[in-house]
Amino acid sequence: MKIVRTAAELRTEGSTGLVPTMGGFHEGHLSLFRSARAENRTVVASLFVNPAQFAPGEDLDRYPRDEKRDATLAEEAGVDVLFAPAAEEIYPDGFQTWVDVEEVGSILEGEYRPGHFRGVATVCLKLFNLVRPARAYFGQKDAQQVAVIKRMVRDLAVPVEIRVCPTIRDEDGLALSSRNAYLSPEERERALALPRALAARDPGALDGLAVDYFEEADFEPRVLAAAVRVGSTRLIDNVVLEGDTE
Ligand code: AMP
Repeated sequence: MKIVRTAAELRTEGSTGLVPTMGGFHEGHLSLFRSARAENRTVVASLFVNPAQFAPGEDLDRYPRDEKRDATLAEEAGVDVLFAPAAEEIYPDGFQTWVDVEEVGSILEGEYRPGHFRGVATVCLKLFNLVRPARAYFGQKDAQQVAVIKRMVRDLAVPVEIRVCPTIRDEDGLALSSRNAYLSPEERERALALPRALAARDPGALDGLAVDYFEEADFEPRVLAAAVRVGSTRLIDNVVLEGDTE
């Protein structure tokens, strides 16, 4: 596996699958790498903790960063190129062009994290333009992110196919997330109320957690999505409702 830091080194051959990430790899990321591996000649994973999608006071500074560990895991999962740019490579001096997916980006997460999806959409479009993938891979765990990216791709006719992979969970039901590393054992136990409440479609099961939202969202597929705060850690999760017989 090659590690590259500049756009100039990115030339790849054949159909390319891109997996955009912020690192702190777990089975959720690895499942995206494996899907990309199965469907493309070349697999590029980007590793970039995107400052533009963090608001002041969020966890940008403490976000887990361990490039060596991530590089080993990515290589084992079949990634050919790990694109780990410096911030200036993505946001050159004078940068002032943003993608704002107005409606889908302003509800739910967008309401609690203003500017978040503007940062996400902009960095994804930039990565698509740098890597020029035939396909890009995202996790259903971040259902609204998928909805935002799909809307952007449709609206701006971006020539990439968006592939969505299922949410990977720990045995106890907690969706894997780089942010789970912030949880103390006691907080992790309390966090289990989130997948349980979603599975039961019952916000009452979140008793004792600080709930930002617990709402159905008209994405494709339709989901029940929730965000909670456990101590200083904010967690999001969702379950797919389509085909729900209730
Ligand atoms: P992140 O590094 O957290 O920005 O995530 C990179 C990609 O991995 C995004 O498309 C996420 O939706 C996806 N992802 C994160 N956690 C999971 C999970 N538990 N299951 C499946 N995909 C995930």
